[in-house]
Amino acid sequence: MAAWRQGARLCLLTALAVSSVGCTRPASSELGELPPSVGDFDDAPLKPIVVAHGGQGSPAALSDGPLRAVQAARTRMDAGDPPWEAAIVGIEGLEDDPRFNAGIGANLRMDGKTIQTDAAVMDDLGSFGAVAGIRGVRHPIRVAEAVASTPHLLMVGAGAQAFADTLKLEGATLATQRARDKLAHGWARLLSDRPMAGWEGVDWRKAWNYEVPAPKNLREARVLALGEEGADALAAAEAAAEASQAEDESADTEDGTKDTVGVVVRSSEGHYAAALSTGGTTMALRGRVGDVPQLGAGLYAGPHGAVAATGKGEAIIRERVAAEVYRRMADGLPPQQAIEVATRNITADEGVGVIAVSDLGWGAWATSQMAWAAQEGAKLYRADEMVWR
Ligand code: ASP
Repeated sequence: MAAWRQGARLCLLTALAVSSVGCTRPASSELGELPPSVGDFDDAPLKPIVVAHGGQGSPAALSDGPLRAVQAARTRMDAGDPPWEAAIVGIEGLEDDPRFNAGIGANLRMDGKTIQTDAAVMDDLGSFGAVAGIRGVRHPIRVAEAVASTPHLLMVGAGAQAFADTLKLEGATLATQRARDKLAHGWARLLSDRPMAGWEGVDWRKAWNYEVPAPKNLREARVLALGEEGADALAAAEAAAEASQAEDESADTEDGTKDTVGVVVRSSEGHYAAALSTGGTTMALRGRVGDVPQLGAGLYAGPHGAVAATGKGEAIIRERVAAEVYRRMADGLPPQQAIEVATRNITADEGVGVIAVSDLGWGAWATSQMAWAAQEGAKLYRADEMVWR
């Protein structure tokens, strides 16, 4: 089993701190011993910074996706666009990448049909726009952007969908085979004796609010995800694996569904923006909304920095992750430490990942593997090329 799957909380990297940060979460008394985020010195001109993530749980090997997003965002900043537009452009690239849970590649919900995409964008000038529960739009982040030009901050459901229609944005079929496989995997976990965090002891059949009947067993659940033929093929593959005693990857402790995308940006003028886009979690009742469109939960930006989270939305909302990371950065903590302190009440089983940028540099951290990339000035960083310990 890969090292990152063994339950250790993996630390990523602090800007310019080329030696890796220790893996265990520090006690507050130990914070002074952590390597500082090494950003710009007070009297040096600010370097532009862009950081992007492909979601908590996404393999670090997919960091080429966030890297492209970072470069696209940076190109826009170099052309004179503000952080708001740069962050959105970065997100658009990730929404087009079917390997991530946003736009094309968005998660399917439990019935195998429902898709609900959420997105949000915020900058340090006080602009915020968010949308929740829309489908069929290739770039939900552009709907969130448009919400910011209305008197509102957040639009949801049928009204948001109708609003999106007025924008005449490009449509797309968002569901992919990968999303179907993830759903089948999610069902196996839910129906196992160790369901994912939050679902333990929950009578989900009683709460079932989809139009199709609740599945009675794993076979019926897999049919929702994969169809009759797909469910049969999966059962046959499992039987063959069991016969050859191959390791069953589906017994992984991760539920493998939290690969939301996020971007944070700092301009050389010291302006900030954060943006997020997601298909939400697969194993969710119809109408469930996570942290992504909620100001201060999934994202926050202000004069002291920008923060974008990923992971179990319920835990991120409960801990007000983005607002808390931001508050600590505003108090002078470097981004990496701010992230680690503000997420300490979220368990590895719940899962969280955060990217953040401030005038002291940038940070990226997750409870598991996470694809991410960063560019500070001319220097590029990506999760799969970092030293881990
Ligand atoms: N935070 C997202 C949600 O709960 C999931 C993710 O990060 O992929 O909707």
